[in-house]
Amino acid sequence: MKTDRSRELFARAQQVIPGGVNSPVRAFGPVGGTPRMIVSAHGSQLTDVDGNRYCDFIGSWGPMILGHDHPAVRQAVEKAVADGLSFGAATEREVEMAELICSMVPSIEMVRMVNSGTEAVMSAIRAARGYTGREKILKFAGCYHGHCDAMLVKAGSGVMTSGVPDSAGVPKGCARDTLTAVYNDPDSVQALFDTYKQQIAAVIVEPVAANMGVVPPKPGFLPFLRRLCDENGTLLIFDEVITGFRLGLTGAQGYYGVTPDLTTFGKIIGAGMPVGAYGGRRDIMKMVAPLGAVYQAGTLSGNPVAMAAGLSQLYYLRDHPQVYRALEERGQMLRTGLTKAAEEQQVPICVTGVGSLCCLFFTGGPVVDYESARLSDTGRYVRYFRFMMERGFYIAPSQFEAIFLSMAHTEKELQGFIAAAAGFLREDR
Ligand SMILES: *Cc1c(COP(=O)(O)O)cnc(C)c1O
Repeated sequence: MKTDRSRELFARAQQVIPGGVNSPVRAFGPVGGTPRMIVSAHGSQLTDVDGNRYCDFIGSWGPMILGHDHPAVRQAVEKAVADGLSFGAATEREVEMAELICSMVPSIEMVRMVNSGTEAVMSAIRAARGYTGREKILKFAGCYHGHCDAMLVKAGSGVMTSGVPDSAGVPKGCARDTLTAVYNDPDSVQALFDTYKQQIAAVIVEPVAANMGVVPPKPGFLPFLRRLCDENGTLLIFDEVITGFRLGLTGAQGYYGVTPDLTTFGKIIGAGMPVGAYGGRRDIMKMVAPLGAVYQAGTLSGNPVAMAAGLSQLYYLRDHPQVYRALEERGQMLRTGLTKAAEEQQVPICVTGVGSLCCLFFTGGPVVDYESARLSDTGRYVRYFRFMMERGFYIAPSQFEAIFLSMAHTEKELQGFIAAAAGFLREDR
């Protein structure tokens, strides 16, 4: 596979962009080699500057649930572009977007549009702190909530205590109010609530963790969080930046039947444009400026082109709910196929996933939290990544990311993926 032009461009990029990329995971850090410079994408297919084609299993990290360049989305965007790119004033599309989200997701009575998932989380946390008058936030090790200071905290192993920043440049003071518990472990959450009685403003959780590979919640875990929050006057925030409109029209909250107080969205609601949103109970959202004392703003928030893209994708999903059954079947086919291949080769792997989210860990499992996810043989993942890329399957350059399936993937492509992965497991014993 020729990668000369990607290599050349990446060398130029490294001179003027930190690491040559505008988001770290694109740098191929964990796997080495040259990141592919992409020129176009249609359906399930990506094309790079050297003319190589790949079947895309990343889907821009989630937004492209209908596949790339979906006609409904493209037409809506083209129409919006013709009307002007930004007005810095309210528009009908924003009203439509807010009404649509509120009508689809019962827990959301009011919603505010922002420009990324990071911004959505940052703002939801501020609203939760403003509403409760408390400062501490409880998150889970291995859950990613964007790059705002307070969320760049991971716990040490063993006893979970107050946060230590995970990134240079985060003041200790910012991390001090972030508590970290163990995903799927109610006792670790209870212990923090016992210690920090009446101080925890919110628990924030990915209802399906999809940034440490994919780790679904154990039965009872999300209801436990709901109950504990209710008993302690703490708000429950579901970070549905990945799961929102991916697990179904009501996201993970509908899928698991647990109702959060606030929800954050991103990725799918922008259909590939930079969009985020946070919303929830009316009494909480009424705290947000200009109605209330919690300040939050954005020059380009609710941008007309971004709204057009997101609206067209959400309308399509709403009007074709059978999409979710089809995605579930695709996910199931991939998970079953990979599991069977590993059994045949007698290789210990753990295949996880829900709906159109899948993950292949190189460990016998079970993978239930960050610690057990980290038992995966990442050296083997690197070899798997290179093997799959060589054969035209574009997967994440890191073990700790999801496979995102879309409506554009055909059964033939999925069977091809399974056959290639089986080939790898056979060769790499
Ligand atoms: C991607 C992601 C974010 C951050 O969204 P950005 O748009 O990248 O800022 C937040 N939470 C979760 C669960 C995500 O997957």
